Order: sequence, then structure tokens, then C-alpha cells
Amino acid sequence: MATLMPAVFFGHGNPMNALSRNRYTEAWAELGRTIPRPKAILSISAHWFVPQTGVTVSTAPKTIHDFGGFPRELYGVQYPAPGDPELAQRVRKLLAPTPVALDESWGLDHGTWSVLCHAYPEADIPVVQLSIDETKPASFHYEIGERLAPLREEGVLIAGSGNLVHNLHAYAWGRHDVEPYDWAVRFEQEARDRILSGENTALIQYEKLGRDALLSIPTPDHYLPLLYVLATRQPHDAASFPIEGVDGGSVSMLAVKVG
Ligand code: ZN
Repeated sequence: MATLMPAVFFGHGNPMNALSRNRYTEAWAELGRTIPRPKAILSISAHWFVPQTGVTVSTAPKTIHDFGGFPRELYGVQYPAPGDPELAQRVRKLLAPTPVALDESWGLDHGTWSVLCHAYPEADIPVVQLSIDETKPASFHYEIGERLAPLREEGVLIAGSGNLVHNLHAYAWGRHDVEPYDWAVRFEQEARDRILSGENTALIQYEKLGRDALLSIPTPDHYLPLLYVLATRQPHDAASFPIEGVDGGSVSMLAVKVG
């Protein structure tokens, strides 16, 4: 029997992490070295937030530089991991009857490659991206995650990439070590407690968690990848936080590992 793979939510933060060496990128590299080597990676990135559910089917997904205003060096980063059309078809089958578009236009966006270039620097593990349907409620995304759970038994690393707290209006651009906002610290702690005690329903209904949650999640794109990962959790699975920290006051870099 294949090893049951963990599922991991990465807080990717600033795209410049792709070029940096810091405690977050070193921890991503450490995770890549310590969890069982996956046969393939299914990445759910905050940055493919579109009005449908789709999977990348290209055998050679392109590296997308989906941001503006960063140093030229960042536009030169390539992450030439192969695709895995068979995995894309498998995802489509698992999610049926929900329609899943087979997408040739997207590739790997920075939510995926800024983390994977540290976790798997050889870029030799096939990667498929799954889009987040922006028209659907949080409960839909959780259900999709539940249906993807069998992939963990098939050697696939399900990797969500977003940020538990992601408020760019409050973010201290260029200053990383500022004191985190109280609301960010409080919401992160509440989410951690609820993750540990398996209170997934409250995390799905995050909009009911009050002002701290609303400030931490002003838009759902960076939060929803967490729900995909939590939804794959099985009764015997532990949950842990292999990476912690808040960048620029309002971006939580927390990683959540299930299994
Ligand atoms: Zn992002």
C-alpha cells in the first residue's frame, strides 16, 4: 500500500519569497525534505480564482508571472515542473458530477512556484493546478476538498497555497518584522484552536466569526485553499503548524499540515 501523503496548506506571502532565503523558505525546503516524496502535486493556489473549476492539463505547464511592480529578477524565475494530464483526468473523475474544465491556458502561478521552488527545487515532480471557483460559497470548496481526499492514498501531495490572514491594505510593504496587528494575532489563534479541535464547520462559516475574521479575510481567495486541505483530514490524522509567523503585520505565514 502506498504511504498516505499528508496535505499541506502553505502561507506563501510576498512573491519575493521565491528569490529569498528566510525562515519561511527554509522551512518550506525542510518540509520538502521530510515528508514522503510525492508522485505528483495537486496545487490549489489563491491566484487561480476564476468563475469555474478547472485543472491544468498541459504536459509542460508554463511559469506564470501573475503580478506587477516587482523587480525584474522575479520575472525571470522559471519552475519547469512537468504536468500530469492523467492526474488532471483523475481529479475530474473524483469531482464528477461537478464540471471540471480541462485547461490549457493557465500554468503554474506564483502561489504554486514561489513555494515549490524551495520545497522541490529540482522541479522534477509533476504539478497540476486546480482553480478555485470564485462564484461558489466556502462550503462548496470544502466539499471539493473532501472528494479529493483519496488522492492522498495515491501518492499525491495536495497543497493549498494562500494565507490564513491576508490583508494587503494593512500590509507594511518592504517592512517584514513589524508588530502584527492585534486582530491578525487573535484570528490566527482562533483558527489554530479550531483546526486542532476539528471545528471545520466554524472555519467554513468564517464570515460568522466576527470582526477579526473579516479583517483577516477581506476577500476569500487566500483563505479558501486552507479549506481544501482541512477537508482531506481523516479521523486518525493529526494537524500541525510546521511554519509560523506574521509578515508585514497582516499576512500570516502559518502552514497547516494534515496527516
Ligand atoms: Zn498571494
